[in-house]
Amino acid sequence: MYPTITLRKGKDQSLRRYHPWVYSGAIARTDDGIEEGDIVRIVTAEGELLGVGHYQIGSIAVRMLSFSDTVIDDDYWKRRLGQAIAMRRAIGVEREDNNMYRLVHGEGDWLPGLVIDIYGNSAVMQAHSVGMHRQRKEIAHALQELMPSLSSIYYKSDTTLPYKANLSDESGYLFGKSADVIAIENGLRFNIDWLKGQKTGFFLDQRENRALVEQYAAGRRVLNMFCYTGGFSVYALRGGATAVHSVDSSERAIELTDSNVALNFPQCDRHKSFAADAFKFLNSIGESEPANGQQCSMLDAQCSMANDYDLIILDPPAFAKHRDALHNALKGYTRLNAKAMQKIKSGGILFTFSCSQAVSKEQFRLAVFTAAAQSHRNVKVLHQLHQPADHPVNIYHPEGEYLKGLVLYVED
Ligand code: SAH
Repeated sequence: MYPTITLRKGKDQSLRRYHPWVYSGAIARTDDGIEEGDIVRIVTAEGELLGVGHYQIGSIAVRMLSFSDTVIDDDYWKRRLGQAIAMRRAIGVEREDNNMYRLVHGEGDWLPGLVIDIYGNSAVMQAHSVGMHRQRKEIAHALQELMPSLSSIYYKSDTTLPYKANLSDESGYLFGKSADVIAIENGLRFNIDWLKGQKTGFFLDQRENRALVEQYAAGRRVLNMFCYTGGFSVYALRGGATAVHSVDSSERAIELTDSNVALNFPQCDRHKSFAADAFKFLNSIGESEPANGQQCSMLDAQCSMANDYDLIILDPPAFAKHRDALHNALKGYTRLNAKAMQKIKSGGILFTFSCSQAVSKEQFRLAVFTAAAQSHRNVKVLHQLHQPADHPVNIYHPEGEYLKGLVLYVED
């Protein structure tokens, strides 16, 4: 039997509503000898068992794996992973023209602390909790049995595990090995580099929003700010944009973007990329006239011929990773959006996103509203965007709704 954690009196309400976390403040007693990452039983002050979960030191003390008296064994992992696979089949995310998607989205798949992304025949797994880390091999084993076509499972948790748990340098293949993977999203091809890339190598959560950019791209001059691997840029090119400029402060991101553009549109003369800071680049838009026939080169943002835009995408990194950074994050979103709204051409379309879990949909909207007011433009909301269906939100865990976007029509 697993060791027991006893809740304080009256602190059982959120678990009875299937919220998957137990905060440390709700705990009255823990059995002796419990270690970080252990599977524990959760009981009420009256001794009623509410479920089992992974114990961790920190404000979220337990991440629930089950709301009954469940043994966490090979069958358990197969059952949960099997449910995740069935759901992806049900929503049709795995197709000939789309072989990359999120298979396990933490709490959204009742597997808090675990992320698994699929790129063709390769899986990339990330643990966000010590418990999932400790069980990575069992999980990989179950996944391999359920998806026999997989040729490799790469484990990448050097940046996602709690620093204090002292578990770094754990990344590596749990099974097989793959290199130079090209995966397909909505018929477009992308190089995936999970070894050096951010997250598992690609931002799968923008797939549907990229498709919407494609719909609006025809005949427009597009600025893809914070482009990373150039996902939005490649869709905009397919959608018939007359020019696409990709900007990221990271040189490596620019290399990735260029390689993905070349992979889909060899010899494309509609695309240029710039390794530049977002604010510097936005500030420079339309500032001076280019010399006749001047070619735009890196950071040659004075080239106004090349930098007036009627479709801008702003997909910055999470400005607030924690609640205490919220105030500054909201100011950051306002500043960024105000700048883009000042610069976009009349009749332009602005796609603006926040992927900070700590920022709510309402707070993000308020930040963008403030930006509109500061820029004195007429702004209409065309769409409200979110994460795609392969990043499901557990209805009992609203915090899982992290990606928010607005599509705005900006007039005079
Ligand atoms: N839109 C991308 C994901 C963006 S991730 C996609 O669809 O895949 C955020 C990116 O912002 C990272 O690549 C990071 O290098 C870049 N970035 C961070 N700070 C920046 C800054 N000040 N100016 C420009 N880019 C920045």
